[in-house]
Amino acid sequence: MIKRIIFTFLIFWSAQIVADDLLLKPVQVSPNIYAVIGDIGGQSYENDGLNSNLGFVVTPEGVVIINSGPSTRVAKALHAAIRKITPQPVKWVINVNSQSHYWLGNAYFQSLNIPIIAHKEAGRLMHEMGEMQLASLKGVLKDKAAGTQITYPSELFQDKREIKLGSVVFQLISFGSAHTAGDMVVWLPQQKVLFSGDLVFTERLLAVIPIGNSGGWVKAFDSAMALGPKRIVPGHGKQTNVQQATRDTRDYLVFNRTAIKKMQDKGASLQEAVEKIDQSKFRYLVNFDLLSRRNVNQIFTEMEQESF
Ligand SMILES: [Zn+2]
Repeated sequence: MIKRIIFTFLIFWSAQIVADDLLLKPVQVSPNIYAVIGDIGGQSYENDGLNSNLGFVVTPEGVVIINSGPSTRVAKALHAAIRKITPQPVKWVINVNSQSHYWLGNAYFQSLNIPIIAHKEAGRLMHEMGEMQLASLKGVLKDKAAGTQITYPSELFQDKREIKLGSVVFQLISFGSAHTAGDMVVWLPQQKVLFSGDLVFTERLLAVIPIGNSGGWVKAFDSAMALGPKRIVPGHGKQTNVQQATRDTRDYLVFNRTAIKKMQDKGASLQEAVEKIDQSKFRYLVNFDLLSRRNVNQIFTEMEQESF
């Protein structure tokens, strides 16, 4: 009996430890604008599945959160980090796309009756892929996934949506399919800060995936940079500027698209392109060995279907 009580206590106690030990450390991007910079490797138990960036903006009338994180546990930790900075209530949560690290923390914020907004295509992909994402995340996060469940955005938008809190303007803008079909940016025109979502990857190699579009990505990137951001919080990597964003994201996409086009014009096969295109000048980016060949494979397949 006593043994069982002690055992039950230990289980409860260890569950409490898992729930409370995550401390997120926001970095200030600009006055009242913060980012939580996630890991640049894959999702793991150790990094809590947090391998992308979160952010928040404090206004005189409340807080806007950019991305709810991959789990209820991360969402709670994000909320705790915000409370250390401001007593202001959270008024909005934005999901920059449909990937698990950006929206599987939604359930926590919905339980507080906070509206959640995403792009229409992201909403569609969440419905399509959410169950699969949650299952695979539970495999990685195990006990740390406790309480995490699918919660879709309460609002979707198509091209552009403006939110004004106090005097602070947030422009939610879609520039079309890029890393995924439902990408968007959050632009703060007064501060010239851009939460670029997955339009920008820095420090780590980006991934071109079937639900995205490398050609669209280049165009979307250019449109986002035309806004004239002074500071960029990318989807992955530390806060950055247009120059580094261009080098680590746009240059990589254009390099491969140009090389693949040349090879396709000569009638080269997919296999030849994967073998012969020398991407080594991008080797400084983390995940290069894991993703570089896969990227050529995906872009080649995509470009075969494009008309020139
Ligand atoms: Zn991402």
